Amino acid sequence: VKGGKMDQHFLVDAAALDEIVESAQLEPSDIVLEIGGGIGNLSERIAPRVSKLIIIELDPQMIHVLKSRLSVYENIVIIPGNVMDIDFSELNFNKIVANLPYSISSDVTLKFLQHDFDLAVLMYQYEFAQRLTAAPGGKEYGRLSVHVQHKTEASFVLKVPKESFEPAPKVDSAVIRLVPRTASYAVADEDFFFSVTKALFSQRRKKIKNTLLGSPLNSEIAGLKGVLNNLEALLIESDAPVSEALLNKTVGGLLSMRAEELSPADIAYFSNLLYSKSGKNSEGQA
Ligand code: SAM
Repeated sequence: VKGGKMDQHFLVDAAALDEIVESAQLEPSDIVLEIGGGIGNLSERIAPRVSKLIIIELDPQMIHVLKSRLSVYENIVIIPGNVMDIDFSELNFNKIVANLPYSISSDVTLKFLQHDFDLAVLMYQYEFAQRLTAAPGGKEYGRLSVHVQHKTEASFVLKVPKESFEPAPKVDSAVIRLVPRTASYAVADEDFFFSVTKALFSQRRKKIKNTLLGSPLNSEIAGLKGVLNNLEALLIESDAPVSEALLNKTVGGLLSMRAEELSPADIAYFSNLLYSKSGKNSEGQA
């Protein structure tokens, strides 16, 4: 089957399709959300093993193919439309399986993270997948890595070479598994943690202090410069779960590090410190 008007590439390699479904550890009670059903290669492997499969599909031509190919299954609901416009809170899924449209990888991943689920198995462009699981220090590590790793245990499942698709795209793909969990460190205010993360990675190779002073956070926190100057005197207490890179540093040392060197725990530590000293927290000992 040729892709519809959207220049589609469909995964046809049976072993890769089986491994994606395998790593979702499907149970008969599962309600699975699939984004982008395409021609149904994943859908037909999922439907017989779960209580319900909800497919969101944008392309009317694909919806047509899905309806005829999957007509034997009574537990499938197809929702026509753009995944970005659909309210997940109306849908009762506990797992997500998707061979994602790569143009929306980032947005749809952040959308997933705002909802409760037990497990997600997601295919991305290879380089993008590496960003999700990247450790601090490398060039793949960024805002998205922090977001995903803060909310989930992200693991690399499998590389899927371009030849596994029909027609073959120009790039390789990879499958990632996300299991939501509570982080091992405390975050005083999650929205604040995410705005600090965003600000820090706007200039990933600059010193943290300069980055923050040049970011929108500077207008959000009154007297940010003074707050940072006061922080410089503090000693980092090593009982917080921070990385080796941060242990035994003064806050002044932390402020001269670069965003790309900080683990999610480090950013949490730093954003909590900033939160308590910036008047954001009314109980803070400013
Ligand atoms: N999972 C299928 C497979 O392996 O054969 C198809 C994967 S294909 C890479 C992506 C699918 O997502 C296509 O069927 C496409 O029409 C659909 N799609 C693209 N953008 C979408 C969007 N914004 N919302 C919902 N579906 C979308």
